[in-house]
Amino acid sequence: MNVLVINCGSSSLKFQLINAETEATLAKGICERIGIDGALTYKKTGGEKEQSKKDMPTHKEAIAFVLEALMNEATGVVKSLDEISAVGHRLVHGGEEFSSSVVINEEVIKGVEACNDLAPLHNPANLTGVRACQEAMPGTPMVGVFDTAFHQTMPEHAYIYGLPFEYYEKYKVRRYGFHGTSHSFVSKRAAEIAGKPYEQMKTIVCHLGNGASVCAVLNGKSVDTSMGLTPLEGLAMGTRSGDVDPAILEFLNKKEGLDIAQIMNVLNKKSGVYGISGGLSDFRDLTEKRLAGDHQATIAMEVFAYRVAKYIGSYVAAMNGVDFIAFTAGIGENDDLVRSDVMEYLGYLGVELDKEVNTGLRGEEKRISTEDSKVEVWVVPTDEELAICRETVSLLQ
Ligand code: ADP
Repeated sequence: MNVLVINCGSSSLKFQLINAETEATLAKGICERIGIDGALTYKKTGGEKEQSKKDMPTHKEAIAFVLEALMNEATGVVKSLDEISAVGHRLVHGGEEFSSSVVINEEVIKGVEACNDLAPLHNPANLTGVRACQEAMPGTPMVGVFDTAFHQTMPEHAYIYGLPFEYYEKYKVRRYGFHGTSHSFVSKRAAEIAGKPYEQMKTIVCHLGNGASVCAVLNGKSVDTSMGLTPLEGLAMGTRSGDVDPAILEFLNKKEGLDIAQIMNVLNKKSGVYGISGGLSDFRDLTEKRLAGDHQATIAMEVFAYRVAKYIGSYVAAMNGVDFIAFTAGIGENDDLVRSDVMEYLGYLGVELDKEVNTGLRGEEKRISTEDSKVEVWVVPTDEELAICRETVSLLQ
């Protein structure tokens, strides 16, 4: 059976068609600039990348182009829609309503809409993708896989903020966490690598991409994670500030005359390593500048690594130990300098970096701690699309 995995943003739609039996990607791509002009990038596995301008006023046209590309006589991978058995949608925020993936029906859509206030940029866009697929492929079962669901096992003491409790009661203001699909996928793989039951492992997953979060997985359950009500909390990220003193908002309002929307824009888009370095958010650029002696790029990378190390430390406390630490996502999988910066802080855990293995290691599953290191540290590449495909299959069986 083939599963179409859809990840819909406000002006983009990423897709991947996966053969669920072999877990091979048949084709993938992205529609961009939806509602502006429209462009489709499509790549059949083993084929050339194709790029074409397409008129995409809405996600409905985008999905039609995707299906057309997948069924194209020359470069397609299926002959008809019948060969696509199900669609798995990435849904960002499931609030407290959804603690696992679900088969999408009208009730589920209403439930996701009820969480729109918690993710005003993401949830409506995700649902637009669901609606567009429902129209284009009526009768094809669809599954929703939430970024937040995996973290619904967090205990109250981890998710309740130090705020008046009524805000939680009235508006569900609490920590939710994100990247759950990735944290779940990588922590399960960690147990396989370690050869231990998932239910008996203490794992810390460092998902370090443009958006980044750390998660403590105790006996197969997320017990804490660094993102909160929104993906702004936690680590200093590509452009997001992560944790700051909340009083800074008032201070900036007074000093710079910024209103709340402008301050949120600064915290989301102009901060993190981008803000510290003076305009660089890609770690390849930061590393280049740092190696050339640039102070701000150096500080940006040091802040990034220090924050990761602090979260690891706090999760060792939360779980009373750790067996396995995994680095994943764009930076975690590819940036050896960040990994070695973080691991320098972990000597107290008996962690020792295998410099030879770590240096130059990109996107490959490998142990980067030495054999006699007490805690195993690995690079474990994440695959959120495959995780969504697996969830989709398991729910429909
Ligand atoms: P997201 O899904 O949040 O957009 P990714 O997980 O794709 O993020 O990570 C993207 C980031 O990974 C880039 O911004 C860049 O900083 C980093 N990255 C990608 N490739 C490399 C590399 N070869 N070396 C260092 N950093 C890399």
